[in-house]
Amino acid sequence: MKYPEALTKLIESFQMYPGIGPKTAERLAFFTFFKLRDEDIVRFSQSLLNLKTEVKHCSRCGVLTDRETCDICTDSERRSTILVVESSRDVLAFEKTNQYNGRYHVLNGLISPLKGISPKEVNIKSLLQRVESEKPEEVIIATAATVEGEMTAMYIKKQLENGNTKVTRIGYGLPAGGDIEYADEITLIKSLEGRRDM
Ligand SMILES: [Zn+2]
Repeated sequence: MKYPEALTKLIESFQMYPGIGPKTAERLAFFTFFKLRDEDIVRFSQSLLNLKTEVKHCSRCGVLTDRETCDICTDSERRSTILVVESSRDVLAFEKTNQYNGRYHVLNGLISPLKGISPKEVNIKSLLQRVESEKPEEVIIATAATVEGEMTAMYIKKQLENGNTKVTRIGYGLPAGGDIEYADEITLIKSLEGRRDM
């Protein structure tokens, strides 16, 4: 016996996600059929369809947004500091602390010779352009304390070396190798307070 095609296709779709094997995918598909209400399924599929058409990178800072320029970039109350992070999830983590009132720059990746990711493939060029035009009071680099995070921080520092911009690196209460997005709020606040000159 084979499952009906629509069910098989749904199982295959769930299996595209990391950490979801055939058994879990099957369970999720069955749950979807037996437990979810029709309107929930419609809403779910609509968000999948809208994802790629409505979500884009902010033209200025690179964070995920549904506008051309994100809320943070257009907020005139924000200080001119630029907090440089790896991903949009890190922005959310820092925003949740309510302790940072500046702007962000999302690299959408980290430099990694091992994975063949060069500086060109990370959102660094636009950061340098922003520093040039916005003249921020400080650039705070908040990449993770991993080899790739440190390498990326050093690269950015080097690129900004000849300018007048103050460049700092967040301090770490974070465990070495720890991801920013999983850090709790207190740790993030402490790491911001403990930032040091590079
Ligand atoms: Zn933005």
